[in-house]
Amino acid sequence: MSCANGEKSEGKRDFALEREKMVREQLMRRDITHPGVLEAMSQVPRHLFVPEKYISSAYSDHPLPIGYDQTISQPYIVALMTQAAAPEKEDVVLEIGTGSGYQAAVLSMLCRKVYSIEIVPELAQSAAECLKKTGYDNIEVKTGDGYIGWEEYAPFDCILITAAPPKVPQALLDQLKIGGRLVVPEGSYFQELRLYTKDEEGIKRKDLIPVRFVPMIHGEEK
Ligand code: SAH
Repeated sequence: MSCANGEKSEGKRDFALEREKMVREQLMRRDITHPGVLEAMSQVPRHLFVPEKYISSAYSDHPLPIGYDQTISQPYIVALMTQAAAPEKEDVVLEIGTGSGYQAAVLSMLCRKVYSIEIVPELAQSAAECLKKTGYDNIEVKTGDGYIGWEEYAPFDCILITAAPPKVPQALLDQLKIGGRLVVPEGSYFQELRLYTKDEEGIKRKDLIPVRFVPMIHGEEK
């Protein structure tokens, strides 16, 4: 997949209007209240992160295929995960599962730096190109196995895992700062979206909602 050529369709559709409608109907009408998240999602051009053939459904209330058996998450799930992670202006964030690059773009508007790891090299490359083309320059993408995290830049204020591991990887909990937040769809078939927080006393866990994500693949399974 390469960055959709939105300019071609720009004349026929008012994407800014579709985005505004998405924010109002899919996010605000549910439980998304974080002003920064609503603002970021009303700005990031989601239609440029989906394959050309799905451009007309880019702002619909569901996930979309991005090739390699992977998907770009439903807008509401992107918003919910971002809101739960609560990134702040000076935060450094790690994302596991770059996919299309859309979630990374949303995060990048709310924090200082996003590091994102993608196991499928072709997706890592196309997401990096797309992010460059759309002007998000505080994101670094690499091909790698998210199970081991990104030690070089750890610890992180927030970690978002956007593929489902059977159990939250210990290496990622270890790479979370004291005071940090980690959001993960945890489980093998049915998953629960969970928020882990770390303080001086240890790790705390909170269940958010049941979800269905693509599984997080181990490096050796590739
Ligand atoms: N955040 C993405 C959606 C991700 S879908 C977006 O905004 O579009 C989940 C992604 O996780 C897929 O692209 C998949 O290839 C990737 N993935 C699966 N296992 C992984 C692993 N172990 N390490 C890094 N990425 C992984």
